[in-house]
Amino acid sequence: MDADIDPFLTAIHEAGHAVILQYFHIRLASVAIRPARGLIPGEGKTEIDTEVPQPPLKKLDRAVIALAGFAAEARHNPDAVSWQKFDDCQRYAMDRRALDAALSSLLSRDADDTEPEFKKLREREFERANEFLAEPACWRACIALATRLVEVHQVTGEEATRILDEELRRGNSAGSDSK
Ligand SMILES: [Zn+2]
Repeated sequence: MDADIDPFLTAIHEAGHAVILQYFHIRLASVAIRPARGLIPGEGKTEIDTEVPQPPLKKLDRAVIALAGFAAEARHNPDAVSWQKFDDCQRYAMDRRALDAALSSLLSRDADDTEPEFKKLREREFERANEFLAEPACWRACIALATRLVEVHQVTGEEATRILDEELRRGNSAGSDSK
């Protein structure tokens, strides 16, 4: 199954993280996918710039950032990923840890994934990520970055920011051009 992962799916996942980080004014260091066969299929990475001071993130925002990858995949292809079942999926280990840490601290106790409260929170924040990506400008920005990632596999934070900004600046009313 993993071998069939569409590189664009991995790319749109990373672009989802990147666009929401951009929204929170977090500077990106790089965005990369590694779709090559023989390596870990579908692996990607969005790194924030640790060399510069970054604005503080709220715990809820951390959860949204972690979920934005799944939300982007689901928006691109609802059948491609069942984010509710990503628990067993190795390729999501990083997101899973980030999400668990954010949600656990919100619930201020050790979170058990099976707890209804935890699930409710995860659903709610997934919906928040989804609503954000549903903004036409955000989604166009995601697609633009993902398209570039499929071509070159890795972009610097600067290039990612430029690609995203270009679409974000055009706003939600733009993009009536046919694709
Ligand atoms: Zn991710």
